[in-house]
Amino acid sequence: MQIETLKKSHLIVAGAVIIMLPVAAYLIGASSAPAPENVVAAAQPDSVAAVPEPVVIAEPQEPQPRIELVEIESGDNLMDVLVEVGAERFDAHVAIQSLQGVYDPRRDLRIGDELQVTLGPVSETGTGSGGGTADALNYVLSGLRLPVSYDRDVLVDRNEDGGFVAREVILPLEDEVVRVEGTIDSSLFVNARDAGVPISVLIELVRIFSFDVDFQRDIWRDDKFEVMFERQRNDDGVVVNNGEILYAKLALRGTELPLYRFENSEGNIDYFNEKGEGVRKALMKTPIDGARLSSRFGKRKHPILGYTRQHSGVDFAAPKGTPIYAAGDGSVVQAGTNGGYGKYIKIRHNGTYSTAYAHLNGFARGVRQGKRVRQGQVIGYVGSTGRSTGPHLHYEIHREGRKINPLGLKLPSGEKLKGDRLASFLQHRKNLDVQYSELAGPQFVAETIDVKEESLTD
Ligand SMILES: [Zn+2]
Repeated sequence: MQIETLKKSHLIVAGAVIIMLPVAAYLIGASSAPAPENVVAAAQPDSVAAVPEPVVIAEPQEPQPRIELVEIESGDNLMDVLVEVGAERFDAHVAIQSLQGVYDPRRDLRIGDELQVTLGPVSETGTGSGGGTADALNYVLSGLRLPVSYDRDVLVDRNEDGGFVAREVILPLEDEVVRVEGTIDSSLFVNARDAGVPISVLIELVRIFSFDVDFQRDIWRDDKFEVMFERQRNDDGVVVNNGEILYAKLALRGTELPLYRFENSEGNIDYFNEKGEGVRKALMKTPIDGARLSSRFGKRKHPILGYTRQHSGVDFAAPKGTPIYAAGDGSVVQAGTNGGYGKYIKIRHNGTYSTAYAHLNGFARGVRQGKRVRQGQVIGYVGSTGRSTGPHLHYEIHREGRKINPLGLKLPSGEKLKGDRLASFLQHRKNLDVQYSELAGPQFVAETIDVKEESLTD
């Protein structure tokens, strides 16, 4: 399999085909390999003239190849899709065979994928079954482009023998760094989203601050946020991937909480405050996003049983199916039905702390007794199983077997950088601060794009 960068807008690149030619010629025992350009005839009909005794591609053709864009829908399979747009069943079969080891249609073909199918023009002379017009035009499968991921495609090209060769190409992407900032007047989620922070970045933003910030209680109107993250655009200028948060800051009633992405002394990436103190604490206070705290720890009148009793955890109301995260690294000691708790997970984090999650709708795949989980990993989904009045997460933290108030938990901060590590962190922090201050916000980026498009049409 060859990997190379390729412009998406160009259907077939002659250089890429040249590399494959000797292999193809060897495989089929071709006596005279045609000039490389001929192989691209299907896409560039001007050069077809020189093909000696072509198997499928016959005559020089004026017509352009037909390019079909197909969006994969539920129930589609590759064979049917190719046949539907006009490929011969035999050609489609050979093209699919060529994918072996590069692309597995049963695994890699997903709903919503956009396939590009190229059908090259050939004239049917003599052998045409209709027997009528001598120069009837026909189109045969000549190429295929399959998306694999935001930065990879698989290309299938017909070779001169009539067979197909598949290869993976890395798409050229342009990296950029984006700055977004804003003021909170409804919630961090809503205001950051409206300011242009993509959802995937927003989830990460909440996660990295969730060790320090209780999102139910600590966020107030007029608090501020700043975030600088990476993203990538494809050749057409479309954003295809949102990357890592490099820097973020919350200013909560005047208290500034900046975080910088940096490699810790063990070589792992973590977030550090301005003094080089890591944020990764033992446990998350809120192991769920976008939930509303609906019942605190302590004495309360039980909503079902009716009498006052100790509420031994905190409740977060959230829609059924909302993902629940492991509050820290640890091993699952229980995952199953547990009386009034309904579907229940308990994770042991270390000799001191365990956490428990109750009333789940279901468990995430692979989460069962004895399995190790990572902090932030989805372990299950909000439900209302057991003794519960509606969908919510009941969350407990156990310290040495006793249930304690998760919101009152004070845990030591993460790693404190020292010596050379601290010195290089401080330099890194300074660079990020400068980069942030020099960046324009996304609105400005959007404006410059608009201006360009306008000037093109004028
Ligand atoms: Zn509860």
